[in-house]
Amino acid sequence: MKEDHLFEEENMKITADTEVCIGAGMCALTAPEVFDQSEEEGTVVVLDGEPPASSEAAVRRAVQLCPSGALSVS
Ligand code: SF4
Repeated sequence: MKEDHLFEEENMKITADTEVCIGAGMCALTAPEVFDQSEEEGTVVVLDGEPPASSEAAVRRAVQLCPSGALSVS
């Protein structure tokens, strides 16, 4: 039996709470391929809610650096 999916990596999932976000922009600076800020409010915009494994380190750093705790990763 072939088990193609056995070792398939699951992408992380990003959640951003714009009610909590204070628009500090650390996320967009740290992982610009995944986060941006809205032009009006300056709050976080998630460009890619399930980014590839190659973005994981930057995303985890952004989550740590976010001063408001608006970001979470599962
Ligand atoms: S780093 Fe945190 S507070 Fe700053 S824009 Fe991103 S989510 Fe918002």
